[in-house]
Amino acid sequence: MNPERRKDPFRTPTGPQLGRRLTRAVVVSVCTALLVSGLIFDVFVYVSQRSALVDDVTAQARIAAENSSAAILFNDVAAAAQTLAGLGSSAAIERADLHDAQGHTVASYVAPGVPTGDKAASARVPREGHVFEDGRLHVKALVREGTREVGSVHLRVSLRPLHDRVATYVAITLLASVLAFGLAFALVFGIRRELDATEQRLDYLAYYDPITGLRNRHAANEQIQRLIETVGRTSDGFALLLLDLDDFKVVNDTLGHSVGDELLRALASRLTQFMRPSDVAFRFGGDEFVILSPRVADATHMQFLGQAAMLAFDEPLKVGVHELRVRGSVGVAQFPGDADSAAGLIRAADSAMYEAKSMGKNTYALFHADMHRGADKRMRMEADLREAISRNELRLVYQPIVDLRTERLIGVEALLRWVHPQLGVISPVEFIPVAEYSGIIVDIGQWVLHTACQQMNAWSAAGHDGFFVAVNVSARQIRRGLKAQIDLALAASGIDPRRLEIEITEHSMVEDIESNVAQLAALRELGIQVAVDDFGTGLSSLAYLKRLPIGKLKIDRTFVKDLPESADDAAITSAIISMARSLSLTVVAEGVETVAQRDYLNSLGCDCAQGYLFSRPVTAEAIVDLLMLRAKVAAAEADPLSAA
Ligand code: C2E
Ligand code: MG
Ligand code: MG
Repeated sequence: MNPERRKDPFRTPTGPQLGRRLTRAVVVSVCTALLVSGLIFDVFVYVSQRSALVDDVTAQARIAAENSSAAILFNDVAAAAQTLAGLGSSAAIERADLHDAQGHTVASYVAPGVPTGDKAASARVPREGHVFEDGRLHVKALVREGTREVGSVHLRVSLRPLHDRVATYVAITLLASVLAFGLAFALVFGIRRELDATEQRLDYLAYYDPITGLRNRHAANEQIQRLIETVGRTSDGFALLLLDLDDFKVVNDTLGHSVGDELLRALASRLTQFMRPSDVAFRFGGDEFVILSPRVADATHMQFLGQAAMLAFDEPLKVGVHELRVRGSVGVAQFPGDADSAAGLIRAADSAMYEAKSMGKNTYALFHADMHRGADKRMRMEADLREAISRNELRLVYQPIVDLRTERLIGVEALLRWVHPQLGVISPVEFIPVAEYSGIIVDIGQWVLHTACQQMNAWSAAGHDGFFVAVNVSARQIRRGLKAQIDLALAASGIDPRRLEIEITEHSMVEDIESNVAQLAALRELGIQVAVDDFGTGLSSLAYLKRLPIGKLKIDRTFVKDLPESADDAAITSAIISMARSLSLTVVAEGVETVAQRDYLNSLGCDCAQGYLFSRPVTAEAIVDLLMLRAKVAAAEADPLSAA
């Protein structure tokens, strides 16, 4: 199922809002601008044409007045009528009247079609000038003889032609606005469709992870906040599951990023299969996923969720041609039980996830308050660890590595111990992860290299030769340039590089395979042996083993523990041994505690072994005792009589 298509109870009401608003804004503003400017223009046209009309009619009235003075003085009605009839050429003039000084009408002109009974004069028309009344323009001009007023000319003009013209302009303006609206709408609609698509894509990128199709960290944070607000209103709590893949980097590094992406996609859809319809999965970071599960009130329910999430890792995932078995660690925390804020809840789930990892990975853990105390303890430990070297609290112990056939000591592994002034002896299992996480491992690692090389030098000086010392090295040390650190230790101690061996765990080996290959090759050139530690616990793959310049594999003790009874472990061990053979690698079995284990490993053709059966990790002096014993036994074997 495509996770994107899942019904989503938390869907954020986002969508292409911006495009729609832009369309509206552009269309409305274009049309309003056009309409307003058109109307302003129309008003301007109306006003200017009206004033032109007034000027024109006033001029005609004056001419008529000038030409009519004689007709009034001599009461020549025919001449007066002729003068007024001359005004008929102007279509707008409806009527013209000539009055004498007493106001009697001397002559009139009435345009064809205008009722003759119409009153020409208006009470409001001044003695001279114009007035607008009843949709008409009235203009009066005085008739003078010298300075004496002898009468007046009164013209009445219809405003209809002017109004009709202006109405046509307004209609054109409106039509142009409608056309512009249509055009603007068509144009903007086209742009809007593109904008909608872009907006949808941006919305998707802001809230979704393009690789898995799940919502992203940003969406998760918003959703957690929203759920917290709902919890404030109702009494239901909710759970947050934080999932982290255990060996994702290995997949990326060995099979390539496209397989890594494919794996994340496959896992995302697998996750959603084990969720309730109301649960939502998010991709929180590189190989981290978050599941938010509403209405979760008690630990039993959380336990159930943790188990359900682990089901996703049960079956191998099919990724292209590969069948990958991924493992993951899950931390579960509940709001409001485990935290009072979004950040606190994520931190709680993170602590629980950390706990799941330290419980051996591929499991889940529910948050409990002690975990924060665990984090505090780690912080205190980190502070103390920074001082451990200068306070001389670190020690090395050495555990023999024997040849399985002869049981002779062929080397020793240097193992770190921290003698804490208050807490006593602390196991590296506890403090190495803290040292790695904080970076202190670089200084500690340098100290271990120096001390082990010095010790080897001391053993040589005392005449004990013919064995190597193996030093564990962490990924961070390799990144910091292992070759330079080793050169320093070799130079300071003066030992033969062939007596030094480096152990690198399978996990760190593949972390940055390209730079590791180059560095390890340089070490091998010096004659330093490189061994893969804890082999079988990572994503063991022949593909990368072949590329690494290594000479040894150390089978992790988890596979040795249940030998020879466990058929699974027997199959794995035997497969590792035959694979190592085909690659000409030496195999060391770790954690050999019983004779049965030793014999079984011997029968499989395992080369070397290390474990409590032969010796626990012991002090450098105790190693000397063992070597002396070895020498004595050897002498006795060579010459039984003199030894006796
Ligand atoms: P490792 O390198 O796999 O070391 C072997 C671990 O198995 C040691 O635990 C050893 O004491 C233990 N062991 C050996 N034989 C037996 C056995 O027969 N039975 C059982 N149950 N355990 C056995 P230790 O010393 O606690 O070290 C744990 C891990 O800490 C080491 O695993 C190694 O990864 C890391 N470590 C130790 N010293 C250093 C160091 O100097 N630098 C770095 N980077 N890591 C170190
Ligand atoms: Mg080791
Ligand atoms: Mg080991």
